[in-house]
Amino acid sequence: MSKAYRAEGASLGDESFELSGSAEFTEAVKTKPQQRSESSVSIFSAPDESQTAAQLIRKAQDILVICHVMPDGDAIGSLLGLGWALHKLGKEHTLACADPVPDSFAYLPGSEAIVTHPEGNHDLVISLDCSDLKRLGAAYDQDSLRGVPIINIDHHVTNVGFGRVNWVDPSSAATAQMVLTLIERLEVPLDPTMATCLLNGVVTDTRGFRTPNTTPAVMEAATRLMTAGASLPEITEQVFNRRPLAVIRLWGRALSAVQLDGRIIWTEISQAMKHECGLSSDSDDGLVSFLTSACEADVGVVFIEKDDGTIDVSMRSMSGIDISSVAMRLGGGGHPQAAGCNLSSSLVEARERVLAELRHSLLEQTAPLQH
Ligand code: 5GP
Ligand code: MN
Repeated sequence: MSKAYRAEGASLGDESFELSGSAEFTEAVKTKPQQRSESSVSIFSAPDESQTAAQLIRKAQDILVICHVMPDGDAIGSLLGLGWALHKLGKEHTLACADPVPDSFAYLPGSEAIVTHPEGNHDLVISLDCSDLKRLGAAYDQDSLRGVPIINIDHHVTNVGFGRVNWVDPSSAATAQMVLTLIERLEVPLDPTMATCLLNGVVTDTRGFRTPNTTPAVMEAATRLMTAGASLPEITEQVFNRRPLAVIRLWGRALSAVQLDGRIIWTEISQAMKHECGLSSDSDDGLVSFLTSACEADVGVVFIEKDDGTIDVSMRSMSGIDISSVAMRLGGGGHPQAAGCNLSSSLVEARERVLAELRHSLLEQTAPLQH
């Protein structure tokens, strides 16, 4: 079931909601949404906001689509999947991400066209897989895009509803699953290119259909994408089975320094470690998931010192333990079992702060069980 938010002062009946000079836009957002059935997994059970989003896209002239900084497979897959659909619709559009496409997703068709600093006269922004505006990073220039409406399409439970239209569905396992619904709403026929990008998003965010949110609806979406021509074995091979040797060496270093703090397992990756292993870009999220597989732990954390000196905190938890609230308290966000934040501090300070928050949260979450 979708959780829809409306940004403050931007309700449907509000004058401030009107896009300057665009009666068409106002018309689109005021159009009555279709009645939905909650039990069905067909596209007609999609949240009302998907209708609004589709109407706005149809009316827009030049669309800027942005995914989150340090993009993962869902961010890039959703961005490209929607990009190909906009291409089919004949819409002017720009695809942007503040950080470069990670090597493991460079195989996706169109990845070379993603820009870090978009230019142009856009009349609509679509944010994908971002729980807050900060996650758009430098790809979203607040000055030049002032007044341009944002459609916020996301599946994070921590989404703050920063868009003019907020289609937030934490029951979706991936934003790519929502983009699939949107493409169907836009009546764009799926093709193998689009389907590959979207399946890449679903496969990576579910870690190969292994996360607790892998519902029949997710499998149904994946089936539609495979039927349209996406190859599950090829995607799996690209995103899970191939890694540079430097990453494996780095994991070796990080794993040999692993620590257990109560039921929290953690390790860290410094700039020096990355350089010594010959790694130029940041590693994938496989390490933190692997750590969390330790029987002795309920929560896994990896602290990564980034090139800009800030610390990226990547967390995973066992089913039943929520870490998204801790991430949010630390200025980040995520899902109940996979969350993160970025801290401007040293590795030691970040570790002390995050571990203290996690210990406290774990105590609160497990206390009733001890009676
Ligand atoms: P990962 O550990 O794979 O980087 O991130 C896990 C989840 O937490 C992802 O859904 C990601 O979008 C979210 N996340 C990671 N870091 C941040 C952050 O700094 N801010 C927010 N809002 N979400 C984050
Ligand atoms: Mn996602």
